[in-house]
Amino acid sequence: MEKIPILDLKKQIAPMRAEIDAAIKEVIDNTNFILGRQVNELEEEVKKYLGVKYAVGCSNGTDAIKLALVAMGIKPGEGVVCPSFTYYATAGAIASLGAVPVFCDIEADTYNISPSSLEQTLRKNKDRLKIKAVVPVHLYGQCADMDKVLEIAKKYDLKVSEDNAQAFGAEYKGRMAGGIADCGTTSFFPGKNLGAFGDAGMVFTNDQIITDNLRILRNQGNMEKYYHLMLGFNNRLDTLQAAVLKVKLKYLDGWNKKRAEIAARFNQSFKGLDVKTPFVPGYTTHIYHLYVLRMNGPSDKLTKHLVDKGIDSRVYYPVPLHLQKCFDDLGYKKGDFPDTEKACIETLAIPVYPDLTKEQIDYIVASVKEFF
Ligand SMILES: *Cc1c(COP(=O)(O)O)cnc(C)c1O
Repeated sequence: MEKIPILDLKKQIAPMRAEIDAAIKEVIDNTNFILGRQVNELEEEVKKYLGVKYAVGCSNGTDAIKLALVAMGIKPGEGVVCPSFTYYATAGAIASLGAVPVFCDIEADTYNISPSSLEQTLRKNKDRLKIKAVVPVHLYGQCADMDKVLEIAKKYDLKVSEDNAQAFGAEYKGRMAGGIADCGTTSFFPGKNLGAFGDAGMVFTNDQIITDNLRILRNQGNMEKYYHLMLGFNNRLDTLQAAVLKVKLKYLDGWNKKRAEIAARFNQSFKGLDVKTPFVPGYTTHIYHLYVLRMNGPSDKLTKHLVDKGIDSRVYYPVPLHLQKCFDDLGYKKGDFPDTEKACIETLAIPVYPDLTKEQIDYIVASVKEFF
């Protein structure tokens, strides 16, 4: 059996290659490389897809989080809560505007932000750390418990921006993830469920003023060229990336459905083994950006077994953010967030992308079973 990567973009792109080549050619022919027509068109399509009033394309998913926070009025020195168990970029984006990441723990079963840990963090630190916002993350492809997060945010007067980089297309109680809070953001990094041919991202909101701010902030603080209203950034979305994304967006729901089918097959096949399959609460769907298994104890032996069998399996994420060297000066220590720290040790992701063949899926299943 040939090696099975964690994602196979060559296979994904091949069937739509002619369509994509034509879309790219059109951009080159028109040379409208910056904020061209396709950027507006993609924003319109995504607005409809998510059922939000406004969508603003930008340079990547990290800048999308930063832009959302700045557009909502978050200032340097203020605190923004996010879970410690997420990709670095969630906290990196908060720090990039001079705000201070404030970490909290996750729920042991969903890996998403724990409302009780959030509330505890706010009760203890809201005033001392000038906490003004929270960024829940829809990790691995399913939504955080948004009603609870929003209720706590209201009580403590916080802005909320969903980090939807991994759950673009998932639903929370019938509403699209990313369109539930004050803002939502996503990443179109090539490895996400909807990926560009480079870096790209987007911010979503139903608020006109936030939208105006976003459009100005992403484009050097300009509304009109050479008249700078705010300290903005160069965080625009490339027309080329928008053209590629417009082609791929049409396939997204089909791909996500395929991922869910493969996940269901895994769930069924791993029944009875000493391993937990993903827990999906009733309030959310799961688009399986990652299919994550949970061991009773360290997952490193199973990871090694699968890698030895040629199956790319990895831990997302091996080091919690509160213990990352770059956040040393925030003063966290081991033991602060037990469920996060445990998840870093006991989880592993196995390939779940829609282009997996039946033979590859069978081989993954057999290899996991062989370990047990
Ligand atoms: C990928 C990702 C980001 C960052 O997106 P980029 O486009 O790579 O900047 C942010 N948050 C989460 C949870 C992600 O998975």
